[in-house]
Amino acid sequence: MFLSIKEMELRKIRFDETFQPGQIDFTGEDLTQASPLRVIGSAELLANLEGEIRIQGKYTVELTAACDRCLVLARFPLDTGFDLFYRPMADIAHEEEIEIDEAETEIGFYEGGGMELEDILREQVLLALPMQRVCSEVCKGICPVCGKNRNDIECECKIETTDDRWGALRKLEL
Ligand SMILES: [Zn+2]
Ligand SMILES: [Zn+2]
Repeated sequence: MFLSIKEMELRKIRFDETFQPGQIDFTGEDLTQASPLRVIGSAELLANLEGEIRIQGKYTVELTAACDRCLVLARFPLDTGFDLFYRPMADIAHEEEIEIDEAETEIGFYEGGGMELEDILREQVLLALPMQRVCSEVCKGICPVCGKNRNDIECECKIETTDDRWGALRKLEL
């Protein structure tokens, strides 16, 4: 759904949309959209602010991703909202220097006649997901010795935490 500035000049845009899996591109993020994404919100041009727009909304969706520790599929239900401000990209081109203060960092930029709601949602979903994608806080992960999922089975492997060989290998890879 395109949120057009031209339309916002006339009125506040209200949206109530449902995006099926595949309509928002999560490829390259190791994520699967497991439910439709439902979003309700609005987009408006702010008065006297030279093209600054405000996009607010609430959405629900469920994503799945392989657990970072045990690789089992983990579910991430999201039920959250956003309140975003965007300025036209042209603004920066005209200014020699942009002073970025704390408040400024919350402001994004748009190019052309508006923004795609799908792009905004994609970014918001990625921001809302936890940094560590684990099936559970207490997930024990995969045994590095025998490769078994330690949530399912208590293997007898001894894990030498002081083994430095892997650390050395990792350094070589970097
Ligand atoms: Zn896990
Ligand atoms: Zn083991």
